Amino acid sequence: MNIRHHFDDATLMAYAAGTLPEGMALLVACHLHWCPECSHRVKQAEAVGGALLHRIEPKPMPANALNDLMSRLDDDMAAEVSSLMQPAILPKDVPAPLHHYLKGSLDDLPWKRLGYGVHHIDLNLGGKGTTRLLKIAPGVSVPHHTHSGNELTLILRGSYTDEVGRFSAGDVADLDGEIHHQPIVDTDQDCICLIATDSPLKFTGFMGRLVQPFIGM
Ligand SMILES: [Zn+2]
Repeated sequence: MNIRHHFDDATLMAYAAGTLPEGMALLVACHLHWCPECSHRVKQAEAVGGALLHRIEPKPMPANALNDLMSRLDDDMAAEVSSLMQPAILPKDVPAPLHHYLKGSLDDLPWKRLGYGVHHIDLNLGGKGTTRLLKIAPGVSVPHHTHSGNELTLILRGSYTDEVGRFSAGDVADLDGEIHHQPIVDTDQDCICLIATDSPLKFTGFMGRLVQPFIGM
């Protein structure tokens, strides 16, 4: 996998600190599954966080703190065991952390039509933003939009080009509210992406205003 676009440091620091919403954390974990470079940067961020913890003044703990910690460790261990029990052969365009949510190949999912050449699946993770898979047909572009918050995109299959550059499988687009873009699928293959936001998108232009009330992205 030839990855050219990675997360910025702020995103990886937030991931290491555990402060990203669930969907964005899932998306980061999916990219890390494929990207040794970002995995290494997260380990560095975690090491910095660990070093800072050592400098914090100790405080007295509540009486049940140890029991709480042990029960949380049980949950973490259960999650680890279930990740070890994943099937040995994953579809190559579904990273292991996402497989847990989809339980199948991208071709077998119950895609819902969103507009001309665009299908989606909402992962319904709850919280403030949205986490969804988007499947866009060759030559089709997503309506022009800006962001009122942050948006992370991970390309699972195919590729697109926008004002920022060309993005193909494994690449991430790490966008904040400043970016105004219109991705267009640039090969004869569908482009399938995982997209996580921490607030709704704002579409601009006539088409955008037309679809906004229906899709609520
Ligand atoms: Zn990376």
